[in-house]
Amino acid sequence: MFMNSSTTQKLHIQKAPTSRVNDVDFQNLTFGTTFTDHMFECDYKDGKWQNPTIKPYGPLTISPAAKVFHYGQAVFEGMKAFKDEDDRVWLFRPEENFNRINKSSKRMAIPEFPKDIFFEALTTIVAMDRAWVQKGLGNSLYIRPFVMATQVGVSASASTEYKFMIIMSPAQAYYTSDVKVEIAEHYSRSANGGVGAAKAAGNYGAQFYPTNLARERGFQQVIWTDANEHKLLEEAGTMNVFFRVNDTLITAPISDRILDGVTRKSVIALAKRNNIAVEERPVLVAEIVEAAKNGSLKEIFGAGTAAVISPVSAFSYKGIEYEIKKPEDNYAKRLKSELMDIQTNRAEDPFGWRVEVK
Ligand SMILES: *Cc1c(COP(=O)(O)O)cnc(C)c1O
Repeated sequence: MFMNSSTTQKLHIQKAPTSRVNDVDFQNLTFGTTFTDHMFECDYKDGKWQNPTIKPYGPLTISPAAKVFHYGQAVFEGMKAFKDEDDRVWLFRPEENFNRINKSSKRMAIPEFPKDIFFEALTTIVAMDRAWVQKGLGNSLYIRPFVMATQVGVSASASTEYKFMIIMSPAQAYYTSDVKVEIAEHYSRSANGGVGAAKAAGNYGAQFYPTNLARERGFQQVIWTDANEHKLLEEAGTMNVFFRVNDTLITAPISDRILDGVTRKSVIALAKRNNIAVEERPVLVAEIVEAAKNGSLKEIFGAGTAAVISPVSAFSYKGIEYEIKKPEDNYAKRLKSELMDIQTNRAEDPFGWRVEVK
């Protein structure tokens, strides 16, 4: 654990008097709706983060004039903990999420959070609620750190007060069926110079309406294209997106329009270890449509923490639907199982991605 760090802030712990864990039906979880016994809270006030506290999970009391409700100054993270067959609990690449929440915060004019407090709080709360981490491939504890602007007042300027929190939700192995996606021709997720590279809450809010329109047409997700010309394929829903053309994996390069996903970079590393050619470069809509027509498009899949890898069975562009007949040895399946084996300590971890929570 990251104890006795440079910070003068001591982590306060108020334990829940009883655990709710025995009331939970872990076989029938709906993603992100059940929360563990504890939550972490830390407030930014008078120019510093103070009073880091782990306390029983429960509602907050916040002024209706808090800036988060009016100007959307809020960022979040999504990460997971896993339990192996020997009841050891592991985080997956947690430094990546820590670095990214501060990168997101910076873009949203939110003060960065101290690393020592983050890791002490994270490892302590996961250890306290370790009974909520279930064994079994695909089971995990979904961890949601987030920050919101809490200063009272509806003047339009960056808040001077914030709340940093961590809440945690047990998640089940979920076998999502393949999704059909629509390539965006009008709406955009992000723009040059915008907040697309930040995990800003408002990015999600802005996606719901165009995604609902796609749903009405029979597509579960939107593949977002560049806002200027809608000629480049950038992300799929809230995931990074990969295209397999012949035996090469292609994905868009990280930019200020694209979220630097931990799953994306893990998939790239695993693909390279499998001697699969990976190209990080702009992906043209035209080349993928052409590849679908000539049969060289073998796979499309999304990559993100929640679903790990989400295969796409068909896409639509300009009202025409293209089906993808994926090969028996598909990369999505192989890379997903290799990634999950590392996450759950079923395989060697040559990359040093796992961090044990004692
Ligand atoms: C969170 C997120 C991803 C996936 O990132 P991971 O670190 O792999 O979970 C991809 N795209 C967007 C827009 C996201 O918000």
